[in-house]
Amino acid sequence: MIRLAIVSPCYNEEEVLDLSARRLDELFNRMVSDGLISSDSFVMFVNDGSRDSSWRIISRLHHENPRFKGLNLARNVGHQNAIMAGMMTARDMSDAVITIDADLQDDLEAIPRMVKAFIDGYDVVYGVKVERQADPVLKRLSAQAFYRLQEKMGVKAIYNHADFRLLSRRVLDELSRYREKNLYLRGIIPQIGFPSTTVDDVIAPRAAGKSKYSLRKMLSLALDGITSFSVKPLYAILYLGLAFILISLGIGVYVIYSLFAHTAVHGWASLMLSVWMVGGFILISLGAVGLYVGKIYKEIKDRPLYHIEDFLD
Ligand code: UDP
Ligand code: MG
Repeated sequence: MIRLAIVSPCYNEEEVLDLSARRLDELFNRMVSDGLISSDSFVMFVNDGSRDSSWRIISRLHHENPRFKGLNLARNVGHQNAIMAGMMTARDMSDAVITIDADLQDDLEAIPRMVKAFIDGYDVVYGVKVERQADPVLKRLSAQAFYRLQEKMGVKAIYNHADFRLLSRRVLDELSRYREKNLYLRGIIPQIGFPSTTVDDVIAPRAAGKSKYSLRKMLSLALDGITSFSVKPLYAILYLGLAFILISLGIGVYVIYSLFAHTAVHGWASLMLSVWMVGGFILISLGAVGLYVGKIYKEIKDRPLYHIEDFLD
């Protein structure tokens, strides 16, 4: 029978942790009695440097019920790194790991389906959001626009899949060999390969509390999601530069013409305009190049992704 680990990242989730633990415990009892998972399967809450009482709640849950384990990170390292910390810690203690957000937005009923798919021989099972009416409109639309942009940029990622997924132990072993610091798991997992399938995930509203993904965190994830897997933006800049050279050729012709026609002084407005425009594009291009240079800087330092302060096993 398989030993399942559920890894759930928590950042200031005190409002939802007890409910989440209760529902996961019920689910585990059901799956154990259905003979789907072994009774030593467990849930690991990863406390990502919460400033509220999340860790105290996790410790209490652990002492009440050994099925709950807790991993306390020394500071907030962000969702992706927190998941990585949990998966890498749970790897040696389980046959498969499922990552799920602590806020109970994902469909818990998808978990037994993931386990069944794993038993059927799939190493990767993606939870795919088939229904996300419960998400705020802006979030839903921006996420979908982002998935499409990603596709255009040639990043291989599963449409409408976030970080709700099952990974087998051997996929986790392969994942551990990825040394990158600009972590975007949704892009890496498809690159590993191995048999994969999807299960449907109906998104519910957050059980309690507010979204812990600030606009800044979301933007930074979106940038990683593209720049960690695609150099197309750099090429876009190149083509933009070419287009500008063509345009300036046209402007050159006009300048020569106006010299002969003695209308040169009229050119002031267009000159000012193009100085600013070209300046703007140069800055944007520098910024885009800088983005990649910044990534190289971060990778080259090869710093650890997280630090574990306590582990309640
Ligand atoms: N989270 C985290 N570290 C962070 C931000 C978020 O571990 O720095 C966790 C959070 O506790 C939740 C999950 O990541 O379990 C997803 O966050 P949230 O539900 O707030 O994001 P949303 O669903 O709004 O995208
Ligand atoms: Mg959420």
